[in-house]
Amino acid sequence: MHETDMTKALIMTVRQWWEEQPERPLIETIHLIVGQFTCVEPASLQFAFAAQTQNTWLSGAKLAIRETPLVAYCHPCQQEYTPEMGLRYACPNCQQPMEEIRSGRELKIDRIEYTLATGAEQELVECTGGVC
Ligand SMILES: [Zn+2]
Repeated sequence: MHETDMTKALIMTVRQWWEEQPERPLIETIHLIVGQFTCVEPASLQFAFAAQTQNTWLSGAKLAIRETPLVAYCHPCQQEYTPEMGLRYACPNCQQPMEEIRSGRELKIDRIEYTLATGAEQELVECTGGVC
């Protein structure tokens, strides 16, 4: 299952960051950005994450998924459009097949919310490369 491997990669990325912290923070929520044009099913990802973090150092952490829509760019028309599957992802204006994707293929960590032992709430803004 694709989402299982994806989740492993995600947990490894978070773990690397976590181990670099002088105080090991308690991770509350991992915010992910998932493009609609990725191979990833958010529900499956949630399921895999819950299964893989159970009774681990990440136990209790939540996964928050934000989906970004698919946006393509048409060079002849010089404009962005939202491709539709029924239209074979072609430009609705000139029917040129989709060739450039501007958004919708992202799969990355947006930020991590965590708490330090001192009780201070912190937020980390971090953009990693794609995990896909
Ligand atoms: Zn066009």
